[in-house]
Amino acid sequence: MSEIENRIQQLRTLLNKYNHQYFVLDNPSVSDYEYDMLLKELKELEEAHPEFFDINSPTNRVGGYISSGFEKVVHQVNMLSLGNSYNKEDILTFHNRIISEIKEVEYVVELKIDGLAMSLIYENGKFVKAVTRGDGVTGEDVTSNVRTIRSIPMEIEYQGRLDVRGEIYMPKAVFERINKERKEKVEPLFANPRNGAAGSIRQLDSAIAAKRGLEAFWYHLPEALDMGIDSHQNALIFLEKQGFKVNQLRFVSKDINEVWNFIKEIAEKRDDLPYEIDGMVIKVNDLRTQVNLGYTAKYPKWAIAYKYPAQQAVTKVLDIYCTVGRTGKVTPNARFKPVSVAQTTVEYATLHNADFIKEKDIRVGDEVVIHKAGDIIPEVIKVVLEKREEGSEPFKFPENCPVCKEKLHRYLDGVDYFCQNIDCPAVIVTSITHFGSRDAMNIEGLGEKTVEVFHKEGLLNNVEDIYLLKNHKETIIRIEKMGEKSFGNLVNAIENSKKNNLDKLIFGLGIKHIGAKAALTLAKHFKTMDNLMQATMEDLTLIYEVGEVMADSVVSFFQDDNNVKLIKSLKEHGINMKYISSEIYTSIFTNKTVVLTGTLTNLTRNQATEYLNRLQAKVTGSVSKSTDYLIYGADAGSKYNRAVELNVELLTEQDLLDELIKVGLLQQ
Ligand code: NAD
Repeated sequence: MSEIENRIQQLRTLLNKYNHQYFVLDNPSVSDYEYDMLLKELKELEEAHPEFFDINSPTNRVGGYISSGFEKVVHQVNMLSLGNSYNKEDILTFHNRIISEIKEVEYVVELKIDGLAMSLIYENGKFVKAVTRGDGVTGEDVTSNVRTIRSIPMEIEYQGRLDVRGEIYMPKAVFERINKERKEKVEPLFANPRNGAAGSIRQLDSAIAAKRGLEAFWYHLPEALDMGIDSHQNALIFLEKQGFKVNQLRFVSKDINEVWNFIKEIAEKRDDLPYEIDGMVIKVNDLRTQVNLGYTAKYPKWAIAYKYPAQQAVTKVLDIYCTVGRTGKVTPNARFKPVSVAQTTVEYATLHNADFIKEKDIRVGDEVVIHKAGDIIPEVIKVVLEKREEGSEPFKFPENCPVCKEKLHRYLDGVDYFCQNIDCPAVIVTSITHFGSRDAMNIEGLGEKTVEVFHKEGLLNNVEDIYLLKNHKETIIRIEKMGEKSFGNLVNAIENSKKNNLDKLIFGLGIKHIGAKAALTLAKHFKTMDNLMQATMEDLTLIYEVGEVMADSVVSFFQDDNNVKLIKSLKEHGINMKYISSEIYTSIFTNKTVVLTGTLTNLTRNQATEYLNRLQAKVTGSVSKSTDYLIYGADAGSKYNRAVELNVELLTEQDLLDELIKVGLLQQ
């Protein structure tokens, strides 16, 4: 194989891997800038060497895949990506290509919202479906999650079939709040708001998506011309009239220099916008011209994205230190001389693993280039070798656990080092924190700091100890300086967790390779913990979503006597070990708008919302004319009064419980 063919193959493999991490796992390992540069290199090589053309190359495919958790929907009109440009020259090339085909052209310039592309389908004036871009041809049906975004109209005036395209995004403020919460709970952070939006829309549980504060802008009507609309700008005005949120920051011009000036103007305002943009989009305004210009396999030829350059900075590595996670995995991190990148101060970055450090040869004392291309997670791009101090030593990965000092282990097939000491305090604290985290048993008040203190005091040595905390009132009030009320809240949260569905418990156990989604698959399939514990490799691999690695991990987890004992003990504490089906049920709440108020006694607010969502109700925060029911608990205040004023039907918590029993969601 020639050197060029080799490089092409190498780039294709690498980009496919990055696509998978980014679009399927919502967990990119490289920055967008790095990805874009590799894609550009591949594109240039393929253009120079057409003999190596491959239809399946990442340059010909719209990034994005369809996962198995959602129903698949074929788009009536493909959903494409956009060609990229990085400077004025690229934009002039795009413009010159267009005016070589037509004499005069008018552009609409819009903000490129950094979110998740979505298609909304309306029929007879009603919202019926929301579908992700997927691979451009087939997407995922995420209707119930998208329905929770309040600015999306459920009814519109237009009565024909309507396909509306746009972007779902996570506002910056929400993104920061959620990442802060995730950090406290030692949950993986979202790399950027786009990642946050994608992760939220992929939730199998729409109650979680509802809490993620997502927003949306709508910018495309693929069938506008057939509807008698002649320009993109008029399509946007039509969308506005139908009640869709359309971004007002846009500019129409026939002059490409004015287009460029508008791009520069927005670049100045970029940091003050409440949402993340990663560039601008230039579109030909006239829809007939758009049709004439046509498409490539991946992009429309009548539009181009301009991407803002990545923001970089040079700083010094002051220290490289390792932390231990719940699986015992040891992660190296860098501490830098604080430096400002993209308006925030960067002081730390993960260095991923020993291989990453070795590959980039990062050493303490080195000057390094770091960047944050719209990402929250700063990353080391490279070492500035010319500035390396004399006598600097390559980083030596520790041989012993930085916390308990036991010898570290590296599995033959992996890149990571692990502390295998089951009594390692770091492993104990992070696994207990994980058990109590929101996507697991959701025990509010049991964050990492608290767990650490309880562990030091000898109150928490393993997960089952959580359920004995109620017996240590005096000690806890003393060491945590907690009031009686906070202690009561903690005990309540612990007691409530016993009623959680089985998937939360499975996820909470922290079985390697079993994330929240896989836990739900297992719970749905096996129905009880006992069934899961007895499952063989064969039983497990028969499940479509479960591969050999996951299956092996589950089987070996339950082969460990300590884990069997743990389950037995959790059973004795009264923790639910059954899966309560989350099928959609029809009830008096179906398609109704419901508000909850006051203190509920049998259910937490989250549990009530989750149940109502299963009953296809829309749970909102405030009472208005469109509220159908108000469910009230003790000490209900202004919402109750407003509901009485508006003649909204009032229900008690018991009414909700009765209805849940009636449809079979709760046992009497
Ligand atoms: P893209 O994000 O570069 O551009 C196309 C998308 O822009 C559209 O699908 C649409 O969702 C969005 N968009 C936002 N505002 C718009 C507007 N006003 N009009 C039209 N579209 C608008 O392309 P992509 O295919 O979604 O993703 C590819 C990009 O993702 C790459 O360029 C790269 O930066 C990133 N990526 C990163 C990694 C990684 O590992 N870091 C991996 C794969 C992809």
